[in-house]
Amino acid sequence: MTQQEANNTDELIFIATSDIAARTKGRSMRLADFNENTSIGWVPANLGIGPLGHIVDNIPFGSSGDLRLLPDHDAVYRIDGVPDKPAFTVAFADLVETNGTPWEACPRTFLRNALQELRDDYGITSNATFEHEFVDLSATEDSHPFSFQSFRRLEPIGTQLMSILHHAGLQPENWLPEYAKHQYEVTVKPTDPVTAGDRAVLLREIVYELFDAHGREASFAPVVAPGSGGNGVHVHFSLNNLDGETLTFDPNRPGRLSELAGRFAAGIIKYAPALTALFAPLVTSYERLAPNNWSTARSFLGLQNREALLRICPTNEIAGRDPAPQLHFEFRASDIGANPWLLLGVIYRAGLQGLRESLDPEEVIVGDLDLEGEHRRLTQLPRSLNEALDLLKSNDVVRSWFPASFLETFIAVKHDENVFVQGRSLAEQCEVYSRVY
Ligand code: GLU
Ligand code: MG
Repeated sequence: MTQQEANNTDELIFIATSDIAARTKGRSMRLADFNENTSIGWVPANLGIGPLGHIVDNIPFGSSGDLRLLPDHDAVYRIDGVPDKPAFTVAFADLVETNGTPWEACPRTFLRNALQELRDDYGITSNATFEHEFVDLSATEDSHPFSFQSFRRLEPIGTQLMSILHHAGLQPENWLPEYAKHQYEVTVKPTDPVTAGDRAVLLREIVYELFDAHGREASFAPVVAPGSGGNGVHVHFSLNNLDGETLTFDPNRPGRLSELAGRFAAGIIKYAPALTALFAPLVTSYERLAPNNWSTARSFLGLQNREALLRICPTNEIAGRDPAPQLHFEFRASDIGANPWLLLGVIYRAGLQGLRESLDPEEVIVGDLDLEGEHRRLTQLPRSLNEALDLLKSNDVVRSWFPASFLETFIAVKHDENVFVQGRSLAEQCEVYSRVY
């Protein structure tokens, strides 16, 4: 849109953040009034609104106190093409104090700070992207994995989704029918991690809105019904130097993984059990994190293994393509309950910790696991949200990455949710989360 069009438009701009429950929140204004001095009021206690939609008890924020949502002018997206809805713009914002200093519990700033330390202390940068799986809850027909029929049945939603994502600058890559019943997946191209997190926040909202416009309902919940296949949110990322060249690849080492990348992976594998409450934060996340689900139940680094917590992805070497810039990790244990900025932030923090502790490069497990035999020793991830919260609370290293106010709020949100959900049947638990996510 030209400057003149922007001055005359009636379009709105939504200034957005995403909270502990990974719900997108914010306030809107006329796009014509938005400029480089814009910031908009916000309330600290909003961080403590859980998935159930109320401010939970026992958080360190009360009815007083104020923040500002400070838009990032490099994170502005215009969304057009949802049937019967006006085009609008989204600007992602950092949460700051009223004097402009960063707010200690801002999830986006948490990621920024982790990236800054990686860059300053180790000369490492990274590219990242998210893969999102979700289920069309409105579908009733028989469904066949990966089928042409499932692809065509959802038209024109697929074409519209890819078009909206493309024109919004999200660089869509693939749109596909997935394995589970009525399950689909959409992927976008890698970019810097903060932008990757922004795209993840936005992509979910576009999917919900587009399905809604067609009278359908989409859910990214980790399991939408007992025994349904899982919906994962997989994070792909590489490690690069300050010039963007690979620090991940070394053709002479196991998995073709450099020593540095091996140490980084070792930090993630070591701290994953204590981080599980953060990347698999819902009561039903643990229905998905089970063996034989193409999800993960153990903390290990696997070569092209889809049950690994951290997977070394294959490279495309057709027609002599160079594998070096392609080799990267996929973190597979996470789901939709995790705020994308926090999720990326804890992955980078854990890797950074592996470097700081000079951990030995992580063993690369090749082939499927033998859980009766040699792989029995691999650390299990916690089996429930409560178990995961206990591990988080008792790990001083992980605790030290967060301000106390943030962790207190996170634990209070999860406690509130646990109390509401625990007494219900699994089917009801799935139902609760499918409505939220
Ligand atoms: N649906 C699987 C999950 O829950 C992942 C399947 C795949 O894309 O490999 O993570
Ligand atoms: Mg998939």
